Amino acid sequence: MRRKLIAGNWKMHLLPAGARALVERIRAEIDPLAATLAKDREVMVAPPAILIPAVAQALAGSSILLGAQNMHYEDKGAFTGEVSPPMLLAYGVTHVILGHSERRHIFHENDELINKKVLAALHHRMTPIMCVGETQDEHDSGRALDVVLRQLQRGLENIGDDHVIRIVIAYEPVWAIGTGRTATPEQAEAIHGAIRGAILERYGRERADAVRILYGGSVNDENVDSLVSKPDIDGALVGGASLKADSFARIVKARTR
Ligand code: PEP
Repeated sequence: MRRKLIAGNWKMHLLPAGARALVERIRAEIDPLAATLAKDREVMVAPPAILIPAVAQALAGSSILLGAQNMHYEDKGAFTGEVSPPMLLAYGVTHVILGHSERRHIFHENDELINKKVLAALHHRMTPIMCVGETQDEHDSGRALDVVLRQLQRGLENIGDDHVIRIVIAYEPVWAIGTGRTATPEQAEAIHGAIRGAILERYGRERADAVRILYGGSVNDENVDSLVSKPDIDGALVGGASLKADSFARIVKARTR
């Protein structure tokens, strides 16, 4: 059985005091249910890099996992403004979101760079959450699947059989991110099924069955149940709603069947 993953992406929001307060409120809702939730799901939050130390402290003793929103692929060097995998590991970061559409479209990250970062995360035994997804234009012109499968293929370049099962894929249609428009559960399930099919073709049934595929794009406490109860939707990557403790907690408690 694949464990669901509910991952909160805080993007460029909050200051230390607000981040600590948010963690406290989330913990108050989630910690008492930790043993039950742990049976079939994991929970992660990804604060801005500079807030990682404060959030790591606030999460001490909790089962909530700590993620990063991005990282460089090198361990160290002359890369002004960047954060390396060992820096994240030093604060207990276990997961890293890579290739988020905001990184692709605002900061012009391409598949080759994202692939290097995925390889670096695996090398450092972190869990990469590799995002793929089509733009509104690509969606409207019927190219969604082509785009997603191309991003998937390129993002998985040089990733062998033993490593692919440690990757989490996040299908995030760009037109659904932060817009309040969500893919219908059926639309999302169709793309998730195709992603799993492509992994099956390349890596075989056992590995395809093990890889988790999250949906992201305006997930909230009202639509989460219908999305994560689909067989190929293994959780959610949540932006806006992860900044509100009560919404995020409700999403974490989603009905999954
Ligand atoms: C995201 O940031 O990955 C995201 C899906 O954002 P939102 O939930 O706000 O659409």
